Amino acid sequence: MPGSTLLQKVWDAHTVRKLPNGQTQLFVGLHLVHEVTSPQAFDMLRARGWKVRYPSRTIATVDHIVPTRDQRRPFVDVMAEDMLSALERNCREAGVSLLDLDSGSQGIVHVIGPELGLTQPGMTIACGDSHTSTHGAFGAVAFGIGTSQVRDVLASQCLALEPLKVRRILVTGRLAAGVYAKDIILEIIRRLGVNGGVGFAYEYAGDAIEHLSMDERMTICNMSIEGGARVGYVNPDKTTFEYLRGRRFAPQGDDFERAAAWWAGMASDPDTSYDDEVSLDAAAIRPTVTWGINPGQSVYVDERLPRPSDIEPAARESLTEALDFMGFHGGDPIKGTRIDVAFVGSCTNARLSDLREAARIVRGHHVAPHVKALVVPGSQGVRAAAEREGLDRVFTDAGFDWRGAGCSMCLAMNQDRLEGEQVCASSSNRNFKGRQGSPTGRTLLMSPAMVAAAALAGEVVDVREMTNGG
Ligand code: SF4
Repeated sequence: MPGSTLLQKVWDAHTVRKLPNGQTQLFVGLHLVHEVTSPQAFDMLRARGWKVRYPSRTIATVDHIVPTRDQRRPFVDVMAEDMLSALERNCREAGVSLLDLDSGSQGIVHVIGPELGLTQPGMTIACGDSHTSTHGAFGAVAFGIGTSQVRDVLASQCLALEPLKVRRILVTGRLAAGVYAKDIILEIIRRLGVNGGVGFAYEYAGDAIEHLSMDERMTICNMSIEGGARVGYVNPDKTTFEYLRGRRFAPQGDDFERAAAWWAGMASDPDTSYDDEVSLDAAAIRPTVTWGINPGQSVYVDERLPRPSDIEPAARESLTEALDFMGFHGGDPIKGTRIDVAFVGSCTNARLSDLREAARIVRGHHVAPHVKALVVPGSQGVRAAAEREGLDRVFTDAGFDWRGAGCSMCLAMNQDRLEGEQVCASSSNRNFKGRQGSPTGRTLLMSPAMVAAAALAGEVVDVREMTNGG
């Protein structure tokens, strides 16, 4: 018998039944809930007189709408206050645990799941947010779902899903100094396209991936969805198990050893086959910056933007649209692009290691006078850990705002927003038109170290030059 992929093993282990339409009804091991996509779902349950099927497998937090500057209740923003109040009521009535602002464990849903050990290998995980693919870093199969599916999972703890193909993305070799996991995933999306992963799960493998920390693996899996993949995952290994050991919701003592043995068995078998395979040389990747209006429109920091005349006619319209929106011309260098805002945050890059890298760049320097710079830790736990290391002082001494945990300017459903045509160097995951709160605001995605470097210089720079390649 040929071996199986992790996707197939997890899928089989969670299959309730095959549906006549070809879909599979999958049991969901963990349902993560937040304030934006859950209120209607809870209302729909209430209207039908249904109960939450597995409150013990459902965990809620608040992230998208929380203000990051002043988090005292009631919030100044009445709509945000109403949304949090609704979540509190829904969780109270359904018996669902809510990791709220007083819990010490609140944060972006994709940061707290792993940090608390809720996210574990071999699980199925669902959450009403596209970037649920983040949890795949642990060898979980994690789906971002819409509000009606949130309702379905609340009511039944199940999801009806189409089968997926698996593309293995082999990343080999070692990253150069100044090049990060963010650059790997931006490279993958640039090469395969923002729709290249439609119908696929992405399995990230190869020695470059194996050498990454869990934080870095999360950055890569987080943006799988930006490449069109339904889920992304990394096979669980020692790095995964050591990350989870001792975390609050992870198995403890002998149970942990038993779980780790089972987790190891969920990894893809060496003799399995894939629907597709792609290889990348990590050593060839350079710091990457998006210049357009989707995460696939990127260049290395020392490259120039593509010219419409250089590409095939079918792609010219979208290229021209992106250049026009961003105020760029084909052939422009990305380096030297003046920025107005620098944002270190989001579920892609607001973990402790991201903050450490950004702090390493800014230590002893100051933000350019025309730049508004903010660091928004991904969780209260990340914030507290960073403060224990004195990172908050490094940032504030350099002129950054040091904020409370939340999604902040990633999506701007709170008070952190771009204004007018501001240009933002951002460690987040989407550069769509209007994503950061202003319909004409412009987003340049890059690694947290590159954001930090841009904040100091006031323009896009090559972080390798600021650190002498170190
Ligand atoms: S940080 Fe951004 S992408 Fe992540 S959960 Fe929040 S809004 Fe979604």
